[in-house]
Amino acid sequence: MIGLGALGSISSDLLARAGVGHLRLVDRDVVELTNLQRQSLDRPKADAAAERLRSVNSQIEIEPLSKDVHSATVRDLLRDTDIVVDGTDNLETRFLLNEAAIEANVPFVYGGAIATYGMAFAIRTPVTACFRCFNPNAPPPGSLPTCETAGILNAASAMVGAIQAGEALRLLLGETPSGVLFVVDGWHPDIQRIHIGRRSDCPTCVQGEREYLGAKRTQVLASLCGSDTISLDPVHHGSIDMEAVADRLAALGSTRRSGGVLVADVEGRRLTIFPDGRALIRGVKDEAEARGVYAKYVGI
Ligand SMILES: [Zn+2]
Repeated sequence: MIGLGALGSISSDLLARAGVGHLRLVDRDVVELTNLQRQSLDRPKADAAAERLRSVNSQIEIEPLSKDVHSATVRDLLRDTDIVVDGTDNLETRFLLNEAAIEANVPFVYGGAIATYGMAFAIRTPVTACFRCFNPNAPPPGSLPTCETAGILNAASAMVGAIQAGEALRLLLGETPSGVLFVVDGWHPDIQRIHIGRRSDCPTCVQGEREYLGAKRTQVLASLCGSDTISLDPVHHGSIDMEAVADRLAALGSTRRSGGVLVADVEGRRLTIFPDGRALIRGVKDEAEARGVYAKYVGI
């Protein structure tokens, strides 16, 4: 399960209840919880989701991973899986997952929701089209509504998540994928079925291009939906010295350790730093500022 937002929390809940034996939960974000002493605690969203799902079904294995998904991490995240379920909130990650799933020869169950509608499609090439077949060109940045600008109706995301879970179960049980794109209207409830054929000239599943998987970057930045938070992953890192970073930041602001992460409030920004060097930076206006904050407080 890649992404544990509106779609991912629905489909992972259904898959856990259905008894899927091993769920790997991947999300890069943290959730803020307030405990009985009114202290605010940041916790990796993957860990919080794992705990909730363990209470739903204690008989299955649940593996939370607090990771960002990009070209340097995706192969490891898909290793030894039988299926990948899309709970992401952006097209770039979907193009990447599409390529990685084809390479790993596992099905990929796409799902997306925005405003009051959504879509789901179970991909298993070469039997079905791939994600690129029906999205041949990535639209230019800024041309689509996002969950920040349009919001999402929870009924629409629940319908899409339920279809994804059903399609994932069918594929896990060895059924042939339908090749049908489900288009959901959550406001005037309706599901349309559209048969999607493969494109004979698809760059990904026919010509074998790996445009997204092959991208080499030294830093991956992404803004998180619905917040002024940017995720920065320095990519080629090992584990960092959390104690040293904590000492350095303690001199500049308030710091605390919480669920394996270091949270620091420094000069109006909140940094949540993970042991592998990734950081969430809240209170910045753009990626350039986030990059500067990371260099200044964590170091590259
Ligand atoms: Zn294709």
